[in-house]
Amino acid sequence: MEFYDFFQNFRMKENKEKIRAVSMKSSINESDLKVLQDKVDHLSLVCQAMCELLEQVGFDKTMLAKKIQEIDLRDGKLDGKFSQKKTCPQCERVVAARHIRCLFCGTETP
Ligand SMILES: [Zn+2]
Repeated sequence: MEFYDFFQNFRMKENKEKIRAVSMKSSINESDLKVLQDKVDHLSLVCQAMCELLEQVGFDKTMLAKKIQEIDLRDGKLDGKFSQKKTCPQCERVVAARHIRCLFCGTETP
């Protein structure tokens, strides 16, 4: 019986630590989500302003859709995403703009 109690206490302590770790990770994810939501909201605002300005000077939604498709295809994939790329100053390979360092040689990219 004593061994059983010891085992149960050990399991409870282990589970409490797991719960604490999961709740910490959850709160980090919530703050990341809030930052991303703020960015999406800001981008939506910028897009709305640009659309309204474009309509004022004679552009319409068909022209906008055509331009979006043209830009989307610049990376060879029609996937609804725009991935900016840059060239490594050291090895001259193409890397995604979000990378601070070249994935091939490790050189810091501007
Ligand atoms: Zn490189």
